[in-house]
Amino acid sequence: MTEQTDTRHVTRPFAITAKDGKARAGILYTRHGAVKTPIFMPVATQASVKSLSGAQLDELGPECLLSNTYHLYLRPGTEILEQSGGLHNFMKYKGSILTDSGGFQVYSLSQLRKIKEEGVFFKSHIDGSGHMFTPENVIRHQSKIGSDIWTCLDVCVENPATRAEALKALKTTQRWALRAVDEYWKTVPEQQITQTEEHTFETRNPLLFGIVQGSIYEDMRREAAEFHARLPFHGFCIGGLAVGEEKAQMAPAVAAAVEPLPEQAPRYFMGLGTPEDIWNMVELGVDMFDCVLPTRNARNGQALTSRGKLQIKNAPYRNDQRPLDPACNCYTCRTHTKAYLCHLFRANELLSHTLLSLHNVHFLLEMMRNMRTAIEQGRFAQAKREFLDLYLSQTV
Ligand SMILES: [Zn+2]
Repeated sequence: MTEQTDTRHVTRPFAITAKDGKARAGILYTRHGAVKTPIFMPVATQASVKSLSGAQLDELGPECLLSNTYHLYLRPGTEILEQSGGLHNFMKYKGSILTDSGGFQVYSLSQLRKIKEEGVFFKSHIDGSGHMFTPENVIRHQSKIGSDIWTCLDVCVENPATRAEALKALKTTQRWALRAVDEYWKTVPEQQITQTEEHTFETRNPLLFGIVQGSIYEDMRREAAEFHARLPFHGFCIGGLAVGEEKAQMAPAVAAAVEPLPEQAPRYFMGLGTPEDIWNMVELGVDMFDCVLPTRNARNGQALTSRGKLQIKNAPYRNDQRPLDPACNCYTCRTHTKAYLCHLFRANELLSHTLLSLHNVHFLLEMMRNMRTAIEQGRFAQAKREFLDLYLSQTV
């Protein structure tokens, strides 16, 4: 394994426009437009943000979605996506799309998985059929999917993991990262990313993000980040956290991972979605987030509001004529009462999933926009305190 700096030059189409402490406001340019950070990416695992139509998604206006190579590869299959003009055209979404490589799903969903040096063999959670993911074919799958930000196949470990288990997974992830970079450069031989103005880039290529692993071990996180920082990645994921470790273990592991990464590159914490965690991680210099939380919680009747979480089926809401969150400007809050939403949920009406998902996704997107403004105005710490004082004040 090489310890030298990779000589392939990469232009990172990411501009930091403001900083407040370690928190950054930036813009990431993909071939489908500008993505303002910090950003929350709604999850469209199966080419759909669950229960939301394209028109509803357009109104919410997320600049980037997350989709998933494992799921799309198994169903509908990358050939169908390619013949449909790629995932954007398939689902009629015009913004940017990041695809998770599938490493996490192989670990969490597959009935059987066997990690070898070549790649990971797994059985589909849908029909039990056998498949092999390698660092190379995962790049090719993402090329067919047509996403804008590709990620490398990595090895996720169980939580808790011993140092030996974490180190073994980390070393495999590093060797796979080198192979993924080689395959990316074969697939995208010409870098067509140019800086046009001080904070503006033009990007015609998909971008490649490496994944920093290392479980909860700070020294491993640091080493992994140093290793990845030497490779020609456009951005960096922090993977394998928010998987059940103690809260107190997460922040030091992230801080250790962030510190060696290049300043002018986006940092993406995979799978983190609670408002309080996102504020804490932006404070440490993380720029991108995704989670199924807003849509999954919506389907369970839970709304995120400025005054904390709210369970819509609860008796006090049966005749509550106020909106879910008076501070919210989403379609659901502009239009409907808690009484109506409570009724829909209790009656098992599908519309309840849609209306609560609309609100929850809007809530997180708006929180990120407010966070970005606070960074630009140099009052991030104050904005964080104000948000959390209210948000954590009660659970209703
Ligand atoms: Zn709302």
